[in-house]
Amino acid sequence: MNPESADAELAEPYLRGLLASAGLDVEYVRGEGNTLYRLDAQGQETPVLDYAGGYGSLIFGHNNPEIVARARELLDGSVPVHAQFSSHPYANRLAAELNRIVHRELGVDEPYYATFANSGAEAIEAAVKHAELDRVLRLSETLAELAAGVEEARAAVGDGSATVPDAVYAHLATERPAGDPLAPVIDEITRRNGERAAKAPVFLALEGGFHGKLMGSVQLTHNEAYRAPFAALGVRARFVPRGRPEALDEVLAQERGVLLGLAVEGGEVRVVEREHPVFCAFLLEPIQGEGGIQPLSDADARIIQEFADATDCPLILDEIQSGLGRTGTLLASSQMGLRGDYYTLAKSLGGGLAKASVMLVRQTRYRAQFELVHSSTFAKDAFSCHIALKVLEMLERDGGQAYRQASERGAALQATLEKVRTAFPDVVKEVRGRGLMLGFEFHDQSQAEHPAIREAAGGGLFGYVIAGHLLHGHSIRTFPTASAVNTLRFEPSVLLTDEEIGRLEEALTDVCVILREQAGERLVLS
Ligand code: PMP
Repeated sequence: MNPESADAELAEPYLRGLLASAGLDVEYVRGEGNTLYRLDAQGQETPVLDYAGGYGSLIFGHNNPEIVARARELLDGSVPVHAQFSSHPYANRLAAELNRIVHRELGVDEPYYATFANSGAEAIEAAVKHAELDRVLRLSETLAELAAGVEEARAAVGDGSATVPDAVYAHLATERPAGDPLAPVIDEITRRNGERAAKAPVFLALEGGFHGKLMGSVQLTHNEAYRAPFAALGVRARFVPRGRPEALDEVLAQERGVLLGLAVEGGEVRVVEREHPVFCAFLLEPIQGEGGIQPLSDADARIIQEFADATDCPLILDEIQSGLGRTGTLLASSQMGLRGDYYTLAKSLGGGLAKASVMLVRQTRYRAQFELVHSSTFAKDAFSCHIALKVLEMLERDGGQAYRQASERGAALQATLEKVRTAFPDVVKEVRGRGLMLGFEFHDQSQAEHPAIREAAGGGLFGYVIAGHLLHGHSIRTFPTASAVNTLRFEPSVLLTDEEIGRLEEALTDVCVILREQAGERLVLS
């Protein structure tokens, strides 16, 4: 082996360099609760208070002892982790448990079928694929029903039991022919239906939304830097502006259309119309995570739900970051009166140890043949299902104590962030979020007096520089959200203590003083 290659930086060296520019390229050697440990110059462990919380994947903290014990038990018991194409009672139990909780929160009893996957983006892609399969099947069912009606009309005109009134030709802008009275009618219907059916499906997503970075999901993620280079590889989404959901009326006017057929009534042929299922799905996060911790307003939620119901457009609620108890319920959207046709869950589902995600589809939309066309070697494995069951057990225990803890700890943290904002309104723009999913947005510093602050802001690195200072100046870890870099994220576990909140208050106060005084030289980045 070439000894030099062992040292060469080959695992995303550019990213590492970028992290290094804000002092964020530290190695953590141990994690426990809300704490990560790094080694100091003497090789001693130094604790870092982790508010990034695995980007929302650690609702019970790093290496939660109960989850670790369950993992040990599974491994010690030689659980068959990879036993694909066999009976998976644990996966079924997990699906049943998810259903029980979802039913309670939504007040419904319609089953949701579960498709398991490995990552958040993969669950999104599964949901989008399923929605498209369902749309294509609905389209062909509608076309088949219309074709049957056309055949009936042809037979009725053929045996003289029906005539073709002028209104039919007027409807289709054709002329009554000398010969077969239905020939131009059927030609025109076939032509128009062919054109309509060939139209690409419309995917709706919200501006600011983030749904992953795979080939399909990245086209539904709004951030142009992630999406644009790969536009030719995936679907095209229409992004609906946040806070202006009436834009949906324009979308509807531009995209909707009908499929045509014929019916016989009272001895006359008439044209019938069926709505063309043009919308594949509307994909949204109840609280945008990477978009800057932006909760959907109740008014927006209501308008989106009404649009979905009126147009038969399936709603995919992406709860990958907001779900699993973080906001006080399994689904943040259940607090907003939203009802998803699909839900995606990931992150904390794996308890910080497993890579697991799931896509839920309500029964009325479910297409069983999806099970034969979508799978992954690693999905639905025994290890991740058992760990996910443990996570749900911990959430549900003691009458939902963990949910209450998320709400209560979140409220305490939010009150502290608000306190800092109130003390520094010139520096802090807004505190947003729910439960343990909070954002702290700074005012723009791109015109700041201090060159280091101004340049960081100008280069889009402001949030990362502040994160570097929090890490090196205060041993606190967090990051800006991916697409809104002036907003710091706070997504700790339910184990968050008052003392940990106090440390954050002190650290953020220091950051605000530095920014108010434009004392960039006091930023500690190594
Ligand atoms: N959806 C949301 C709302 C997310 O926050 C993320 C990850 N930040 C994803 C999808 C993608 O998940 P993953 O990184 O596991 O692919």
